[in-house]
Amino acid sequence: MIQMNDFKRDDEALLQSELAATERVLRSGWWILGPEVAAFEREWAEWSGNDRAVGVANGMDALEIGLRALGIGPGDEVVTTPMTAFATVLAILRTGAEPVLADIDPDTAILDPESVARCLSARTRAVVVVHLYGQAGPVEVLSALCADRGLHLVEDCAQAHGARASGRPCGTWGAFGGWSFYPTKNLGCIGDGGALTTSSADLEEKARRLRNYGQSVRYHHPEIGLNSRLDELQAAILRERLTHLSAWTERRRTVARAYADGIRHPEVQVLPLPADRERHVHHLFVVTSPRRDALQAHLKACGVESLLHYPVPAHLQEPCRTVRRDPLGLGNAERHAGECLSLPMHPALSGSEVASVVAAVNAFPPS
Ligand SMILES: *Cc1c(COP(=O)(O)O)cnc(C)c1O
Repeated sequence: MIQMNDFKRDDEALLQSELAATERVLRSGWWILGPEVAAFEREWAEWSGNDRAVGVANGMDALEIGLRALGIGPGDEVVTTPMTAFATVLAILRTGAEPVLADIDPDTAILDPESVARCLSARTRAVVVVHLYGQAGPVEVLSALCADRGLHLVEDCAQAHGARASGRPCGTWGAFGGWSFYPTKNLGCIGDGGALTTSSADLEEKARRLRNYGQSVRYHHPEIGLNSRLDELQAAILRERLTHLSAWTERRRTVARAYADGIRHPEVQVLPLPADRERHVHHLFVVTSPRRDALQAHLKACGVESLLHYPVPAHLQEPCRTVRRDPLGLGNAERHAGECLSLPMHPALSGSEVASVVAAVNAFPPS
């Protein structure tokens, strides 16, 4: 089976460096929020082109903590996309604010700024753009729209490590970027991990407090915080893997190009690759087909694993049944959810595996 991800194939040199990093942490006698986390925060801020980074327990917490640090909570509305990992919407709900769902652009499956404009109200405080599948969203348009209306732009960068829009890194367009280091992400650890990046010293300080029980100085808790700390082992592993991330991203781009050039089928559409290759880091490679379920069964029979990102848009999830949405509906998101299929995508895929996936898709019997 050609798998979506295959962590057992990590190269031996990387594994050896991770074992050394693990020993370094074990012998240091310090497990949570220590020197490895501080070093990773500096290195991640620098690598991702951001000024400041705060390590947290996971990507969802990075979004909740950042939104709360902006003062967003009960009575506020935050506009975002229904086509995302549910964690994006859950982070908004957990602040006490109400998510409002805008439709997607059918070519990218990313938030459509025109739909966002239709969703704004007097209570809107922020727009969360998700750089879905690893592709930078329309931040040029959204940052102008948010500046015009006095709204915060927030970037969910959980799938977009290293993506740039108009030469400027994702995570630097908005008030903050929320990052996940869940194992399957482009940069992943060996458990849960996340970070928030920002250029604001004030936001950084608030986030540092919120991640650690809302503690200002030890044993003083002026606000209701979370326990959302990054541990030393995850930070040490992330520091080793970060040295490979640029090369992995290039490999993902090569695989994506080969898929896009090779897949030719009247009932299978590849989401178009952006003209500016820096916009996309190909966390996932997604095709659409009106016969998606049959295509998935065919691929499985050919020994090719595939997954759906995401089969149920947020507005059809129980906690979102009554949330406000684009008055024109969320038709593009609903259609995409019914037709999307993610093909295997990871840097260790070999050329012959990529060719096998292309051949399997092209051999899908037409209706
Ligand atoms: C993975 C992901 C998250 C959540 O990250 P966790 O680390 O799993 O909490 C949020 N948003 C998007 C778009 C994601 O892909």
